[in-house]
Amino acid sequence: AKKAVLGPLVGAVDQGTSSTRFLVFNSKTAELLSHHQVEIKQEFPREGWVEQDPKEILQSVYECIEKTCEKLGQLNIDISNIKAIGVSNQRETTVVWDKLTGEPLYNAVVWLDLRTQSTVENLSKRIPGNNNFVKSKTGLPLSTYFSAVKLRWLLDNVRTVQKAVEENRALFGTIDSWLIWSLTGGINGGVHCTDVTNASRTMLFNIHSLEWDKELCEFFGIPKEILPNVRSSSEIYGLMKISHSLKAGALEGVPISGCLGDQSAALVGQMCFQDGQAKNTYGTGCFLLCNTGRKCVFSEHGLLTTVAYKLGRDKPVYYALEGSVAIAGAVIRWLRDNLGIIKSSEEIEKLAKEVGTSYGCYFVPAFSGLYAPYWEPSARGIICGLTQFTNKCHIAFAALEAVCFQTREILDAMNRDCGIPLSHLQVDGGMTSNKILMQLQADILYIPVVKPSMPETTALGAAMAAGAAEGVGVWSLEPEDLSAVTMERFEPQINAEESEIRYSTWKKAVMKSIGWVT
Ligand code: ADP
Repeated sequence: AKKAVLGPLVGAVDQGTSSTRFLVFNSKTAELLSHHQVEIKQEFPREGWVEQDPKEILQSVYECIEKTCEKLGQLNIDISNIKAIGVSNQRETTVVWDKLTGEPLYNAVVWLDLRTQSTVENLSKRIPGNNNFVKSKTGLPLSTYFSAVKLRWLLDNVRTVQKAVEENRALFGTIDSWLIWSLTGGINGGVHCTDVTNASRTMLFNIHSLEWDKELCEFFGIPKEILPNVRSSSEIYGLMKISHSLKAGALEGVPISGCLGDQSAALVGQMCFQDGQAKNTYGTGCFLLCNTGRKCVFSEHGLLTTVAYKLGRDKPVYYALEGSVAIAGAVIRWLRDNLGIIKSSEEIEKLAKEVGTSYGCYFVPAFSGLYAPYWEPSARGIICGLTQFTNKCHIAFAALEAVCFQTREILDAMNRDCGIPLSHLQVDGGMTSNKILMQLQADILYIPVVKPSMPETTALGAAMAAGAAEGVGVWSLEPEDLSAVTMERFEPQINAEESEIRYSTWKKAVMKSIGWVT
């Protein structure tokens, strides 16, 4: 069959906490042409520990690229039309590898991991100057969440890591760095870099000067030599290089020219380019980001200040306020894997629908402590308000409600910090296919929830950054290019009073979850 002629295409790797995807878009229409997805294993070797295998992650990227190329072939689309590749990734997750062998020196320590609680406590006792030392430079509270403490733990506890650092063989990176280094050749000249958005989540990066911060590196005891070069989110970092494990030879030589942490990528993919525009992404966790333009806004209500994007070497940096919720989709996965009350994540909708209420049951899934706005490491999950009437359907419903209540807390904080309340909420992410969740969210926020019909906005953002890069130039970032995006809307249906009562009971439940561990 004759191959269809198309405009330039752009590929995007979307490496999330629960799965890896590779997607290919038409750069002229932003249409998603084909994709492939592979679920990623999470290991819980001890209570509070969360690890992933960096090699499995890399292998899943290869597999997704290969399968997507095969699917494009079946659609008669020539993969030589792919002109650029973007990378978006789970943030903060920390990898150290050996630059001579290409082997990881330990599993990836995942952002949710809590092993660094005592590291954080010890460090917080020796913060120099005032308590604002870390926050004022990085926009982040000192927490187990960010890479610097995970890296500190690896340096303190893993002999192979210590030895590789001594012998000048160690490289540190978040998942973007690990992937870009590997995909651009690994031990044969791989490029060791990261972008400003990922760097801003390490707690080692000065978000004002946009450089690794000398004082922070000293405070955390991190040797600067192992850190990647920090680049903008949209420029050519290097070219795809064939490896033994990658059969998709046609992508050889394609530039990797976009890199954004997943939440920044979603902000770009949702076209939130204006001051005050916000989106909420429902994946493993839940992340509400509001573009604050070219100024760094510091929150008074438990939100983070983070780099939103910098789309080109000579382009200005944009900042965002972020509300991070650790556990959203992860609670659904927990109901599936640990309690076994559902066989797939999608099944939760069926259970919830059966009852249509939690019947007074509240589920605070503080598995990794509470993130924004509480930043309370002592919290642990609780299910309360149980009676003999409560069944698994009510618990399923309460789990969905928990995601919505957590978002409400963040939105309240955001409105207080920004002064102008959001008139609607733009959403995306794996969980947004759940219609009950979306309706509940509109009810609990009491504003409309708006969802693009193409839900892969994270990948889209990475593809846009890659396609728009200097030297690639196949994607224009003018918002009107994509004005044809269709939206699905969910309007609040319950009355405001009922919504408030439920929300205040949720807050009572949250208070009960705090202080479980000391
Ligand atoms: P990530 O980017 O963190 O890997 P995704 O955006 O791929 O996450 O979303 C996957 C998460 O969404 C999983 O935790 C899964 O349990 C949850 N999820 C997927 N589909 C549904 C659904 N229909 N209802 C509720 N949760 C869902």
